[in-house]
Amino acid sequence: MNIKTLIKGNKRFRKAKFTKYQEDFNTLVKHGQKPNVLFIGCSDSRVVPDLIVDTNPGDMFLLRNIGNFVPPFKEDFDYHGVSAVIEYAVSVLKVKDIIVCGHSHCGACASLYDDLSNNRKLIHVRKWLELGQKAKEYALMNLLTKKASKEQLLRTTEKISVTYQLENLLTYPEVVKRIKKGKLNIHGWFYDIEDGSIEEYDAKDKKYRKLQ
Ligand SMILES: [Zn+2]
Repeated sequence: MNIKTLIKGNKRFRKAKFTKYQEDFNTLVKHGQKPNVLFIGCSDSRVVPDLIVDTNPGDMFLLRNIGNFVPPFKEDFDYHGVSAVIEYAVSVLKVKDIIVCGHSHCGACASLYDDLSNNRKLIHVRKWLELGQKAKEYALMNLLTKKASKEQLLRTTEKISVTYQLENLLTYPEVVKRIKKGKLNIHGWFYDIEDGSIEEYDAKDKKYRKLQ
């Protein structure tokens, strides 16, 4: 895969697939986008939101970052890329659902167990990974005595991280306001790269269940 492949890909897309969507795109241009869902997923190239839930252009507002992390709300005038997306999705697009979707074999969650303190090339990654620290601490505390394998430790970290990101989502005043009004629901998902299945977090039982 290189840039030439992508250019050829766009040619194929215009020739074959674009015509299939042309009318949809024209409608979306004419009336504007009105996605009902904000999907927060990992930047990992193996997690492809529109592919895994079989959605079309205009269906989902997307936010992808390393680890599908959600920083807590901060009322200052710094550059907050993630918060700006959430703000726009909630206050302007008025999405009805926000999904935070973690996934198996997440490099971000695995990196939580590496020491990056002396890596000057990764100062922003290192800072960003702080948003996964609570998940790591939880996984270590709950699994260390159970002789869990490294894989079990990582799966637990990935899954529990999603719940901490949901907690952070609840620090956004507009998110909370719309949930209280019954106009917004938030969901924690976990996508399994190996079999394509998705589990949803049940906040009442504190357990993940396979989506049927
Ligand atoms: Zn990931």
